[in-house]
Amino acid sequence: MPLTLHVDTARWRDHLRAFTESATPDIVPVAKGNGYGFGNAVLAAEAAKLGTSTLAVGTYEELPDVGPGFAGDLLVLTPWRPWSEAPADEHVIHTVSRIADLQALVERGGRPRVVVEIITSMRRHGIEAAQLDSLVELLAGVRFEGFALHLPLAGDHADEARVLATAAFAAVPDVPRQLWVSHLAPPTAATLASQVGGEVRLRVGSALWLGERGALHARGTVLDVHVVRRGERYGYRQRRARRDGTLVVVAGGTAHGVALEAPSPAVSARQRMVSVAKGGLQATGRVLSPFHVAGQQRWFAEPPHMQCSMIWLPSGVTPPAPGDELDVDVRFTTTTFDRIAWS
Ligand SMILES: *Cc1c(COP(=O)(O)O)cnc(C)c1O
Repeated sequence: MPLTLHVDTARWRDHLRAFTESATPDIVPVAKGNGYGFGNAVLAAEAAKLGTSTLAVGTYEELPDVGPGFAGDLLVLTPWRPWSEAPADEHVIHTVSRIADLQALVERGGRPRVVVEIITSMRRHGIEAAQLDSLVELLAGVRFEGFALHLPLAGDHADEARVLATAAFAAVPDVPRQLWVSHLAPPTAATLASQVGGEVRLRVGSALWLGERGALHARGTVLDVHVVRRGERYGYRQRRARRDGTLVVVAGGTAHGVALEAPSPAVSARQRMVSVAKGGLQATGRVLSPFHVAGQQRWFAEPPHMQCSMIWLPSGVTPPAPGDELDVDVRFTTTTFDRIAWS
């Protein structure tokens, strides 16, 4: 039995619909990576139900996962490079972030559909404002679908977006005034649309798919339960039990991304202390697991295995039975579930 994502389907879909309809700018759902825990094929089908005209994917390699479920336009977020295996597909919109790449695409012919990414304070991809002038001529060789801005998560970047978009449309005046943005609140995006006198398409992943967390529950199925006496050995490491207790073997291991934390910046003094404390516990061989039994987060008996974990329960806590499910804290963008249970 598996690590399961339980979805309160009606509540989740209500949120998806409300989010999509309430936002004045057009929503472009993003399906990429692990599909935010759902998988990209599932998200493609949901986007089709929502009726959005465009779905964004992260890479060219992800296109085959969403193609069968979504018949509309497909925006590829990773910028096109000369080595990209880009299909010649009328539905595909390329992101271009270097003048040389735009030139190369033009030379290949076929007038591909392109969005031109402008670099922001994020400093990931994009052409510099100073290069905008060289766009005018090249854009004649493609079908221009707009400018793209990928904004940082931290801070307020509404002004930055307005300044960059205004400069871009001033440099290239005779094109559709369409702007693709990320990480702006829908009302801010609507304001931006009126400021630049254009259409704004809001690319959204997390806030859409994971915006109603109460509709999503991750649970691991208990596979086995063993009573262990003080001094007895257990596990790959053959560690000795320091007191009587119960080992609970539960679905959910490293292969699912369970208990693998993405690096996060420990910003505040308190966060740094928590990290030190966690490190200290790791040094003594005890690590708090993301699994809950009887309302409490429990210790790993040893580091998680490939597909399951061993959890330590002190004697006195009533152990679960095989077949029961344990709540597990997961990070949805790094977790691969065995199955989704729609209810
Ligand atoms: C991943 C990505 C998004 C969606 O990000 P979320 O934080 O999940 O909403 C938007 N735009 C670009 C360019 C991305 O790479």
